[in-house]
Amino acid sequence: GLDFNGFVQVVQKTFSVLSNETFVLTTTDRIIVDADKFDKLKDGTTLYLLRKPNQVLPASIEEEINFIPHYNTLIESGTDEYFIEGQKSLPSALAQLVDNALSATAKNTGVRSIEIRMLFDKTCGKSAVVVLDNGCGMTSKQLNNWAIYRLSKFTRKSFWGSSEREGYTRPEPVRCSLNSDISYFGVGGKQAAFHIGNSVRMITKPRNSPDVHELVLSKDEFEKKEKNKEDVYKGTILNRKVYLQDIIKEETRKESFTAVVITGVCPDHIKYLKDDFHEWTRQLAHIYHYYIHGVDGNHKMDQSQKSDASPKIDILVTLREKPPAGLRQKNLREVQDDLQTLYINSAVDTFEFKATTSDGGSLSGTMNRARGKRDIFECFWNGRLIPYTTISEFDWCRWPNKSTLPLECFSRFSGVLFTNDKFRVNASKQKFMDLELKLRHKDTHFTPVFNVQKASKNRNIQKEFMQWLEKCHSQFDKQVKFLGYS
Ligand code: ATP
Ligand code: MG
Repeated sequence: GLDFNGFVQVVQKTFSVLSNETFVLTTTDRIIVDADKFDKLKDGTTLYLLRKPNQVLPASIEEEINFIPHYNTLIESGTDEYFIEGQKSLPSALAQLVDNALSATAKNTGVRSIEIRMLFDKTCGKSAVVVLDNGCGMTSKQLNNWAIYRLSKFTRKSFWGSSEREGYTRPEPVRCSLNSDISYFGVGGKQAAFHIGNSVRMITKPRNSPDVHELVLSKDEFEKKEKNKEDVYKGTILNRKVYLQDIIKEETRKESFTAVVITGVCPDHIKYLKDDFHEWTRQLAHIYHYYIHGVDGNHKMDQSQKSDASPKIDILVTLREKPPAGLRQKNLREVQDDLQTLYINSAVDTFEFKATTSDGGSLSGTMNRARGKRDIFECFWNGRLIPYTTISEFDWCRWPNKSTLPLECFSRFSGVLFTNDKFRVNASKQKFMDLELKLRHKDTHFTPVFNVQKASKNRNIQKEFMQWLEKCHSQFDKQVKFLGYS
């Protein structure tokens, strides 16, 4: 509450400056503080008390600073990441929200229900993209953690103050690494929400609690706080009872849930989501092919022989527009033209193998179905597709010069790789970091697998693969040669 003169007096007193001594106050960049500048000083600023403005510092001085990241760190985090191949990759952003829903519903005993709702009919005021799941929900502490950029499951602290980690335990290995443990960096949800729109409301109810927790992060709020010189990384969680609300009427019916409500959806995105509905739902069906259809994928023929009995995962997409366009709805299970479905249903035989790396990386792969000129392998990480990494081939499945098999045989198979999380992906989960490098490493061993239970350690993968291909060639390949026509 002091004015400049008052302040100068306090300084003189505190530092015992004699009344006949001349002195000057400057900032650390040597700007002289006068009455005018004094009014503009921020709290916590370091000042020098000097005899003259350009006096040499008699000692080194520590200046306290703070460097809280700008809020753009959060809201712009997806800007470059999702800009792949000249196109803003919206399906990849939606996938991040589905990833979270898959993680949250991992322990559901009944159906795992995930809904992506595009509400473009303005019934609730503005356009919104909502992702809703019936998973475990979040406590208010977990919701607080959700908002912290880069706070991953590996670094989270437990609520009760101990320095112990919350105790992340790696899931047991399962076939195709379909372990639903897809949360990894502490980035995805925020990055995706702000790529899609400019405001996100999280509404969540954890199991065994009567309360609903809500938290809003929005660009407008950030700007407002910055303008008012408030801490932008502070906010409030609303804890309330369950009530009936437009967007999630289900609140009253679900024991636990999370709804991610994104508004301020940019018009380009709305246009894309409307116009290319078929395309992006197909891409999502491709990404989650094995979560939706199970380890054997989408075989149209033998639905009866599904080898796993885990709870069903429903991923339902709805798009609501103003009449007359109305409502479009698609369960991703119904998609029959994603690449995996097409491959699987044109395959006549399969070759399966495994690889392990020295740091515990495990990978399994299957090869079948023709691919033409494409890379051989699509790659799945913890069971979900990493869409922009493919592996062209391995040494052991390349055409060897001395082979009796014709070169064409080598474009008649394609494959999928399933890795665990020892193989790293980037934060938007669009690319692997070092998959190819690790797989080419001399300590990485490939072994053919002849039944699901055990890999055949001592068998040579190249030999077995060539034998398989020869068998396929003699059984399934037909070449027709027309003679005598002009
Ligand atoms: P990644 O960067 O790999 O996505 P992440 O999933 O931890 O890592 P976010 O997607 O931002 O990062 O989510 C942060 C955390 O919020 C999650 O780890 C999870 O604990 C919680 N969370 C997010 N979405 C949900 C949800 N639908 N249900 C329950 N918890 C959720
Ligand atoms: Mg996530």
